[in-house]
Amino acid sequence: MAALRHILYRRAILVYVLTIVAPTLVLLYLGLKSLQRQHDAIDALLVSNLRLSGEKLAGELQQQTGQLAGRCLREAAALELDLEHPRQVRAQLDGVRERHPIAGCFFLLEGGAVRYPLLRTPVRRQFEAYLASETPANRQKYAALFRDGENLELRVGAPEQAVAAYRRGYELAISAPLKALALSRMARCLKKLNQAKAAERAYRTLLERYADECDLAGRPYALTAGLELVPTPARRAQLYRDLVRGRWELSAEQVDYYASILRDAAPAGDATAPLPRPGQGRDPEADYLACFQFARALENAFRHQGPLRPGQVQAYAFTEGDAGYQLYYTLLPSRQGAGSKRDTLLGFSVRLKWWKEQLLPECRTRSGIKDEVRPVWKGWEAAAARQPVLEARVGLQGVLPFLELAVRPASGTVWAGRARRDLLIYSGATLLILGLLVMGVLLLTRDVSREMRLNQLRADFVSRVSHELKTPLTLIRLYGETLLEGGSFPEEERRGFYQIITRESERLTHLIDKVLTFARIERGQKQYQLREGDLGAAVACTVEVYAQYLQRRGFTLSANSAAGLPPVRFDPDGVSQALLNLLDNAVKYSGESRLVGVHLRAENSKVILEVEDHGAGIAPSEQEKIFQQFYRVPADETRGGYGLGLFLVRHVMEAHGGSVEVDSECGRGSRFRLVFPAAA
Ligand code: ADP
Repeated sequence: MAALRHILYRRAILVYVLTIVAPTLVLLYLGLKSLQRQHDAIDALLVSNLRLSGEKLAGELQQQTGQLAGRCLREAAALELDLEHPRQVRAQLDGVRERHPIAGCFFLLEGGAVRYPLLRTPVRRQFEAYLASETPANRQKYAALFRDGENLELRVGAPEQAVAAYRRGYELAISAPLKALALSRMARCLKKLNQAKAAERAYRTLLERYADECDLAGRPYALTAGLELVPTPARRAQLYRDLVRGRWELSAEQVDYYASILRDAAPAGDATAPLPRPGQGRDPEADYLACFQFARALENAFRHQGPLRPGQVQAYAFTEGDAGYQLYYTLLPSRQGAGSKRDTLLGFSVRLKWWKEQLLPECRTRSGIKDEVRPVWKGWEAAAARQPVLEARVGLQGVLPFLELAVRPASGTVWAGRARRDLLIYSGATLLILGLLVMGVLLLTRDVSREMRLNQLRADFVSRVSHELKTPLTLIRLYGETLLEGGSFPEEERRGFYQIITRESERLTHLIDKVLTFARIERGQKQYQLREGDLGAAVACTVEVYAQYLQRRGFTLSANSAAGLPPVRFDPDGVSQALLNLLDNAVKYSGESRLVGVHLRAENSKVILEVEDHGAGIAPSEQEKIFQQFYRVPADETRGGYGLGLFLVRHVMEAHGGSVEVDSECGRGSRFRLVFPAAA
């Protein structure tokens, strides 16, 4: 039977799991899937919209960049650029650049070689070019003296006489470049002659008066004389700054050379490379040094595409390392007459910073695009891979092909927020439902196991009660039959038989009372008739009856009742049964002790009935449990009993609106208190 019930309970759990848990899980899963599918569909739609916006913007950008580049190039091509005077060329192109922010670095290419910016140092400048502006007399005198000086210094090896020749040349009324040239040669000879003081004076004059004049190799005296003078750190730093900001028109080779000498004077960050990389300066693409870097990359990567007519603009893009360049160039009309020339191409690189920060936002506004647009390196996936976001990538074909536009919805955050909230709500609800399901399983399991335990206890109870009924019935029948047979027994023995029959039938009554009361409680039919009365009298009556029984068993009962107790509403049978149960237990668990006490007193509008014994006592951990139905302290399992006595006591007290309390100590006895509320 028990096994069958066990199977049935297991089945209840199984049915619960199959009919509620499993379908709910399936529904949750389907819900999640459909939510995801919806999101995917919305994503796909949004991405195709973003792509459309990106393509529109890319077209606009291509057109605008081309137009602006054409305008800029036409203006630059109209200039008379004389490569013999690079400083002037630079000033002219800087002017164009100021009016056309699209231009980063300008360049001039001749026969595939970069002519501007100056990459290589030109072979010795024409000495004659310096003399050109002089009067014929001065020109002759200066040339004779200078050649004389050079001959004495470099071939004859007579620096002393060379100094004299140079000095006379210097003293002529001539232009600053020639004066500076003579003075620098003089200083060089004085140094060779170990006339340190005089040499220093000469270098100092060069530095103060002719700092921006250049020698025949195109080196400014600020640098040559400046370095001869062993400058202070501040002066070196100043030289470095002048150098990298383009104070002099030098070749890339010269800049590299001087930058390497002055590198230690460079501000932190510049010291690692002779040419700082673009991106480090304030406006890297228009930077003097960045233009050299660009020119070197250009010479490596540029291949002229097909025939070009003067005035026609051509675009070209290339990447070098981690830099990308977009060029626009045109063919300059030949200046040296037909047949003699090689093609000269004039062009510039697009200033990326301006393109990203100015042109792109402008075009975006003009095209009425609300989405967020960022230019990114083509194929650059890092951010997208880390966190999947809604984004369309659109390549730029005709312009800056190494970039692409990353387009995201401007309201992306709002949309993403809403989507995330949906998901959160759904996940929260799912978790809640799962929690409830798990709780259901736990509760069901707990209830089932409790029910099974209770059933087991009930079965035990029935078998124990049947067993307990047998003993008194057997005794009563035995002694009854003995008396009936009418044998001659002495009077005293006969009385003993009667007493046994009476005692056993009392026990039987008491037991049956208990079982019946319990059965009524179980069915919910137990009712108490509460009437206001004298609790003291009712208690005294029960105690009197029980006292004889106690006496017979050798117990001493000490009973006392306080005077003037307030009236209490009570059911006399119920109270009597509760008291008898407590007295029964006191006797049963008294051990060697033979003293039982019953005290009745009033306390704070309550009447308290106390039953005390001096027996085994109850461990603190058991004191709460002993009031449960069928519960018995494991150590007392062998003693007769059913675990019902205290359960009934508590039931009686609850029906009276009172309570039962226990105060006990192992080995010293127990005190049970029935607390009745006094009648108002
Ligand atoms: P039982 O019929 O087994 O006595 P009760 O409900 O009356 O059932 O008591 C429950 C348990 O409480 C008992 O098994 C016993 O161990 C313990 N108990 C009850 N009264 C006393 C007492 N006066 N002294 C010590 N233990 C007690």
